[in-house]
Amino acid sequence: MTTPEARLGVRTDLIGVTPYTSPQQSARYRMNTNESPYAPPERMVDEIVEEIKEVALNRYPDRDAGELYDLLSQHLEWPRSGLWIANGSNEVLMHLFLAFGGPGRTSLTFEPSYSLHTLIPSIAGTATVQTMRTHDLSFDVEAAVGVVREQQPDIIIVCSPNNPTGDVTPRSAVRALLEESPGLVIVDEAYGDFAGDDASARSLIKDHPNLVITKTFSKAWRLAGVRIGYLMAHEDVISDLMRVRLPYHLSVPTQVVGRAALRHAGETLRFVHAICEERDRIAIELQALGLKTYPSQANFVLFEVDDPEETWGELIHRDILVRAYPSVPRLEHCLRVTAGLAEETEAFIGAMREIA
Ligand code: PMP
Repeated sequence: MTTPEARLGVRTDLIGVTPYTSPQQSARYRMNTNESPYAPPERMVDEIVEEIKEVALNRYPDRDAGELYDLLSQHLEWPRSGLWIANGSNEVLMHLFLAFGGPGRTSLTFEPSYSLHTLIPSIAGTATVQTMRTHDLSFDVEAAVGVVREQQPDIIIVCSPNNPTGDVTPRSAVRALLEESPGLVIVDEAYGDFAGDDASARSLIKDHPNLVITKTFSKAWRLAGVRIGYLMAHEDVISDLMRVRLPYHLSVPTQVVGRAALRHAGETLRFVHAICEERDRIAIELQALGLKTYPSQANFVLFEVDDPEETWGELIHRDILVRAYPSVPRLEHCLRVTAGLAEETEAFIGAMREIA
């Protein structure tokens, strides 16, 4: 039988691809998508508004986003030639897969992890191999190296801290993968700002030109609504990414906001520590209720309950939205809650006490 999709001529390999879904439901306490509950600093927003009034929106943006790259390079103390900026780290990943993945290529992930690490390669026509983490959801480096040796993937994606478990993959493990890998190793450090510089794999790039670190302004930088992400890599990776970039992909407003955020970096990032404290408080309180939590260095906590569907429903009934994983293998009993304000922690823990 010909499916309607096939009749319209969609790529056959896309027919099995399920579009990304995650409920964008309104709730007083939005603790489901790991955004920051803190709006960007007021002074920064004022500057953005003033600059937007002045810029020529009738003209295309600076195609190379030169000033934005310069400011990011200074902030990171990383050469501009080793940076790549796009509309969120999802687009950064898409650029990587357009350039290095595609038909005839394979990528490897360690599950459970961020679902886009499988969806983005698939959209770009890349075959995906999903290997499982251990039963306690940790990363087993020896097993991982074994899979790499056997599968010889063109691209490996590691998520560190991993979404949704929250654990950091140690540098030694990333190095072991780099040494075994025939192609690129992408380490997604979207939550890296919460784990601290020591947790980052970036220092390995100098000896491993096949390493790419992706990062985002959507979490600690409080700018999920703007869509800015970037990667750090060897300059050869960057010259290949130039091949897949659409002209003017970073809009004028995006560049204005990105520059303002970098000028106000200290103030923007100042709640990172407070958010980590809320994360730890959530974990301790859940443990006190007798629930299993997974150790997290990100801005969320994964925990187990007997009946996640019922708990999710009880929480939303109290205007608290968390993330559930009804059909994700190994996460059937898990819920993930984003850490943010003390008030959110109190509402969530108060609700969990009542539910328990
Ligand atoms: N990587 C991970 C691990 C994430 O959890 C997310 C967002 N949930 C992203 C990347 C995408 O972030 P963005 O596109 O907003 O930069």
